[in-house]
Amino acid sequence: MASKTLEHFLQENLAALKREGLYNEIDPLESPNGPVIKINGKELINLSSNNYLGLATDQRLKEAAIEAIKTYGVGAGAVRTINGTLKLHLELEEKLAQFKHTEAAIAYQSGFNCNMAAISAVMDKADAILSDELNHASIIDGCRLSRAKIITYKHSDIADLREKAKQASESGLYKKIMVITDGVFSMDGDIAKLPEIVSVAEEFDLITYVDDAHGSGVLGKGAGTVKHFGLSDKIDFQIGTLSKAIGVVGGYVAGRRELIDWLKVRSRPFLFSTALTPGDVAACIKAIDILMSSTELHDKLWENGRYLKQGLKQLGFDIGESETPITPCMIGEEKATQEFSKKLYEAGVYAKSIVFPTVPKGTGRVRNMPTAAHTKEMLDQALAIYERVGIEMGILR
Ligand code: PMP
Repeated sequence: MASKTLEHFLQENLAALKREGLYNEIDPLESPNGPVIKINGKELINLSSNNYLGLATDQRLKEAAIEAIKTYGVGAGAVRTINGTLKLHLELEEKLAQFKHTEAAIAYQSGFNCNMAAISAVMDKADAILSDELNHASIIDGCRLSRAKIITYKHSDIADLREKAKQASESGLYKKIMVITDGVFSMDGDIAKLPEIVSVAEEFDLITYVDDAHGSGVLGKGAGTVKHFGLSDKIDFQIGTLSKAIGVVGGYVAGRRELIDWLKVRSRPFLFSTALTPGDVAACIKAIDILMSSTELHDKLWENGRYLKQGLKQLGFDIGESETPITPCMIGEEKATQEFSKKLYEAGVYAKSIVFPTVPKGTGRVRNMPTAAHTKEMLDQALAIYERVGIEMGILR
């Protein structure tokens, strides 16, 4: 018989979320996740995907995936350490290391999985982790899984980080101490202060861990935030996803060879979860080849990012502290944020509202992710709709 306790818990909590405007409705797509998408038969300019370079729908990646499926089938058939490692996986890992300017790399089934895997393979309950308060959920969960003491520091506040690193180091309580940060913070589009973080890390011998899910393909001419700051030999763990700029699915750690050797024997999702599929791996290899041979898509992404940002600013929207193409439109109150996003949708723009608990209460925003695949006409159309809805809702005068 179904549990009454569970039924009560679910009904009460779902109703509370709906009452507070915090229940997220999911809209299934009837089209590829390109610059224009179709939902419920309606065409919308898409400003909500992480498909930064447009590679998710790129013909060259599709063909690479189809060829690999024809050769190897649709599944890897086992975890990497039994017999799920295809030559293709090793080729991808070599390419990732080249792309990130490191000795080696290891691929996982997702970026989320990668943070679960990598943190807990190295840190344990004798250790401490200094974590930026705005770090991604997968970092938070990875830290929790490790059972290390988690010490959060204020967002990008180097004085706070230094003070906490000093205390942790001088307490003598911890065997190892790690500092962990997003490279680009996806809710605001700001960049981590990596040179300052590295200098604190050097002072207190901290292990450095950068999750560059939103910086790879975007900063450092594509190679990411660490390369952007010229710190490739100073960061121990460079994490990336294969699901955003790369356009497919998966995650990876790039770093020195010994670290990767250790992760191959000690990180649990590598040991206990089936390997990435042949089609996905082949598409990722193609994407990395494209990124290493030309900056064309990267340059187009930035051109579009600047264009949209400037347009929104000129209209009078508050676009926060963004330093990358990720462009939030700050609204504030949760219900108003959701209402704004809904009206944009009705008028033809798909820009998702991001509210608590993803961001702090009262800082709701509609987040825009222009990509290399958008045309100027699409962005102009989106801006015209933003203006109309902004005036209608009294956000613009
Ligand atoms: N890290 C960060 C910073 C992210 O933003 C995300 C995705 N939202 C992930 C990890 C998880 O990556 P994936 O979607 O590949 O699981």
